[in-house]
Amino acid sequence: MASHLANIFGTEQDRVNCSFYYKIGACRHGDRCSRKHIKPSFSQTILLPNVYHNPSNDPICQQTPQELQSGFDAVYEDLYCELSKFGHLLELHVCDNVGDHLIGNVYARYEWETEAQAAVDNLNDRWYAGRPLYAELSPVTDFREACCRQNENGECNRGGFCNFMHLRLASKELVRSLRHGQRVERRLNPVKTEVAGGWEPPKRNRSASPPRRGRNDGEDRWTRKQS
Ligand SMILES: [Zn+2]
Ligand SMILES: [Zn+2]
Repeated sequence: MASHLANIFGTEQDRVNCSFYYKIGACRHGDRCSRKHIKPSFSQTILLPNVYHNPSNDPICQQTPQELQSGFDAVYEDLYCELSKFGHLLELHVCDNVGDHLIGNVYARYEWETEAQAAVDNLNDRWYAGRPLYAELSPVTDFREACCRQNENGECNRGGFCNFMHLRLASKELVRSLRHGQRVERRLNPVKTEVAGGWEPPKRNRSASPPRRGRNDGEDRWTRKQS
């Protein structure tokens, strides 16, 4: 019986736990969901809900696709550089959905759970681009499972209101250069993770993030909440 329950955990057959919350980290019913949303105590993944505002959702938006892409790339770079200060960033994804529970969601997955926790603790004190940030540990482990397959084939007829992730993708060249920057930075500022007597959370130099490529207009979009 126990193994049967373990097998269905987080699947559509699970009558107790919400498969949407488990797989995607967000469910359209929110706190009113009839199934359980079990918030993880430890996770490599964090969620920052409602961070990216796509200008094209505004009906009066006049930007060309190229302008929209370079605007998004600047935001992605900004997020990547800041989030990689807390540890080894393995994945960074931004949702392009428009439903309330997924709009502008940013997910980051770290190598270590302690890095994710440090990011959550720090970011909950901050604002980004004039809005307060809310960060939480997320149960999402596999973004292949969380993403909408039909959307990837250009065939999702639910569009932005889909309940699976529709990702907004940064330019391939930018992603490659950010990953490369992080690798170089980590080589220059190696993190000691093995200590005698067990594992200890990596202590990172706060400046150990990839160097910016100077695309930002110099405005600091990261501010601290007033205490
Ligand atoms: Zn739910
Ligand atoms: Zn979809």
